[in-house]
Amino acid sequence: MSELKKKKFERKISLTKDARDGILSFCKMNHPNEGILILRGKSKHGDVYIDELVVPPFSETGADFAGFPHNPLPLDLSYVGIVHSHPSGTAKPSLTDLDNFFGLVSIIVKSPYEDDDIFAWDSDGRELPLVII
Ligand SMILES: [Zn+2]
Repeated sequence: MSELKKKKFERKISLTKDARDGILSFCKMNHPNEGILILRGKSKHGDVYIDELVVPPFSETGADFAGFPHNPLPLDLSYVGIVHSHPSGTAKPSLTDLDNFFGLVSIIVKSPYEDDDIFAWDSDGRELPLVII
């Protein structure tokens, strides 16, 4: 019973191959600074589908943190989360990342930004299954 319940709330993140490739080249372009993008797509029953990337209007990037702390994003229901890079090479969300969590999912790409360097997290810092479609 508890297993069933757990399954019901499990969130799965689907990312199109094009979006994945766009994220990876954006991260490489911004290295050694962090890069940040808004993830656009839709969500249904907790599953998130991402097929578009949006450059945030007022992003500030630096080596330690990428974000838009003083500039709230426009309210857009198609904005399902954010992705940013970790030039330091760890894919774990930092406390700052969790404090600035936006939407349903936070995707983090660690250096050197290859296909296996991309991870999805929920607002509690738990890893979510990420599927490339
Ligand atoms: Zn971070």
